Amino acid sequence: MSRFLPDETADHIGLIDLSSLYEKGIRGIIFDIDDTLESHRTPLPSERTAQFLKKAEETGFRICLISNGKEDRVLRFNESLRLPAISRAKKPRKKNLKKALFLLGTKPSETALVGDQIFTDVLGGNRMGFYTVLVNPIDPIENKFFYIKRFLERPIRKRIKE
Ligand SMILES: [Mg+2]
Repeated sequence: MSRFLPDETADHIGLIDLSSLYEKGIRGIIFDIDDTLESHRTPLPSERTAQFLKKAEETGFRICLISNGKEDRVLRFNESLRLPAISRAKKPRKKNLKKALFLLGTKPSETALVGDQIFTDVLGGNRMGFYTVLVNPIDPIENKFFYIKRFLERPIRKRIKE
């Protein structure tokens, strides 16, 4: 069960305490894109999101984007940000999380992963030994798996609150 539990939660990225992450020894942050940084319906980062990422870099973090989404989506989203980015990542598989680590040049214990999904982001990050931060999805994808996934997430989210 514990590998499904994040180290911390935040309602949205703007509420993540960046200086406390830095104090914990975190030096690299891997951000999921869809419904973490921006809605999956939003092709470009908002000014607010861009500012947030800039603030994170100014705090001293190296940043990397990682998405299970298509390459086109990630390239377009990252056009103005110009961050190291990985598409079709197949989280929670380790392969591309290792690649992200390589791009950041940090150790797993110095790395945080911020995402909105328990079974991809939190699980993948925990398997790698990252510090995991779960945010509420901005705009949940409501496909046929959505309700099943929410159902399966329910006991875990309940435990997080306790
Ligand atoms: Mg996501």
